[in-house]
Amino acid sequence: MEIIETVSGMKRVCREEARAGKTIGLVPTMGYWHEGHLSLIRAARKRCQVVVVSVFVNPLQFGPQEDYQQYPRDFSRDIRLAKSEGVDYIFHPSAEELYPQSFKTEVEVRELSNTLCGKSRPGHFKGVATVVLKLFNIVRPDAAFFGQKDAQQALIIKRVIDDLDLDVELVILPIIREEDGLAMSSRNLYLNPQERSAAAILYKSLQKARELVRGGERRAPVIISRMKQMIEQEPLARIDYISLTDADNLWEVDSIEGKVLIALAVFIGKTRLIDNLLLDVSGA
Ligand code: AMP
Repeated sequence: MEIIETVSGMKRVCREEARAGKTIGLVPTMGYWHEGHLSLIRAARKRCQVVVVSVFVNPLQFGPQEDYQQYPRDFSRDIRLAKSEGVDYIFHPSAEELYPQSFKTEVEVRELSNTLCGKSRPGHFKGVATVVLKLFNIVRPDAAFFGQKDAQQALIIKRVIDDLDLDVELVILPIIREEDGLAMSSRNLYLNPQERSAAAILYKSLQKARELVRGGERRAPVIISRMKQMIEQEPLARIDYISLTDADNLWEVDSIEGKVLIALAVFIGKTRLIDNLLLDVSGA
């Protein structure tokens, strides 16, 4: 396994691999890997001949009051995991390498970037779309692997690929959870033991929503208010948003029909966590 820190170095090896006729899979990450990351890496390993994983905490996607500095990092552990998972290359550039002083260009995906998480994190998805397009241009992957955990991010990247005619197959993989249902996240590290057990409320509220829909409830406001009631009973939780949207365009829906995304962001103490559930009720 090789660790590459420069854009030119990463381009060179990817062009060589491609010239040798190999398919390249890219897994973009911010490091501090957990089973969620590993599931993407394993999928890439199965599907592609060369696996490139980027480890880059992207300053562009953090707001000024957010946790860019504190974001958990353990690169030596990521390297060990990469070796045991059969990763071929880790791309680990510095912020200066990806964003030199002269850097001016940003990628904005209108509408999709301004709802849900984009409302509470202005500029976040511009940072995401920009870094992902850069990674795509550097690596030129045949396929790129992302998690459904960040459902809005996945939709935005799909938009970038379609709108800008990129030749990348987008592979979205399911959310990997802890035993109590909490979606795995590098930020779970911030939770103290009480917060950690309180954090299970996100998934519990999603399960409640699913149960209501299975029981025949179709009114979005009713489902949202039941989820809200449930979360508000947890003293350490503060809701940022709960939203029921069309799964393809993120428009809020009034009633559940077809493919809907139930997404939420909740502060547990000072830590903002997200989770979501896709439901397909067509004919069900
Ligand atoms: P991050 O390092 O948090 O930027 O995440 C890198 C990739 O891993 C993104 O595509 C995430 O959606 C994905 N990911 C993060 N957590 C999970 C999880 N619990 N299950 C599946 N994928 C995940």
